[in-house]
Amino acid sequence: MNAKSGIMNQSQGTSNWPQPLIEGFLRFRDNLFPSDAIEYSRLFAEGQQPKFLIIGCCDSRVDPAIIFNCAPGELFVVRNVANIVPPNEARIGHHGTTAALEYGVCNLGVEHIVILGHQCCGGIQTLLHTGEKSSPDSFIDDWMSLVEPARASVERDYADSSIEIRRTACEQRAILVSLKNLLTFPWIAQRVAEKSLAIHGWYFDIDQAQLLGYNASTGQFESL
Ligand SMILES: [Zn+2]
Repeated sequence: MNAKSGIMNQSQGTSNWPQPLIEGFLRFRDNLFPSDAIEYSRLFAEGQQPKFLIIGCCDSRVDPAIIFNCAPGELFVVRNVANIVPPNEARIGHHGTTAALEYGVCNLGVEHIVILGHQCCGGIQTLLHTGEKSSPDSFIDDWMSLVEPARASVERDYADSSIEIRRTACEQRAILVSLKNLLTFPWIAQRVAEKSLAIHGWYFDIDQAQLLGYNASTGQFESL
């Protein structure tokens, strides 16, 4: 597309480009990139072969590559509001998370999928506040309705608890809904059955700097 036509006319030129990002790129290029340049060259020449697919939240505080201290090429990351995996649905609409899952599993052959939930999740907070009163015009409400079973079970089991306890419980139970949804995709269920793919539900407790993992044997999130 010609830069002077169509949607590009909506651009306001270069004067409003976010300088912190440009300055950050220059620091990356000048300070960090040189030490990884050979590895970057190899990755782009040979292709990526990540073993781990992470479903993370968009939240600016929970960048998987930072939390897991991973290098370029190690993680295949999908981020959305509240780290949700939708179920296998009829192929209408546009399914960004599902498309990324398919690419990671079927094309890249990842060996592990980690659903990474976290403390103080804004998406879960919204779900707890709106509940069944969600607005049909809200993309967020519609998206969060995917984990409504988590909210409903928490409201039932933690009716007398504080909002903090209910939010944490809902954040963790939403991970379990997504774990269940992963298995609705035959190309995931088959690989899990064959043990060529493992799926995990993890929870990042920011306050305690703890990583918890769901133990299916105990039904609890336990410190890793
Ligand atoms: Zn979140």
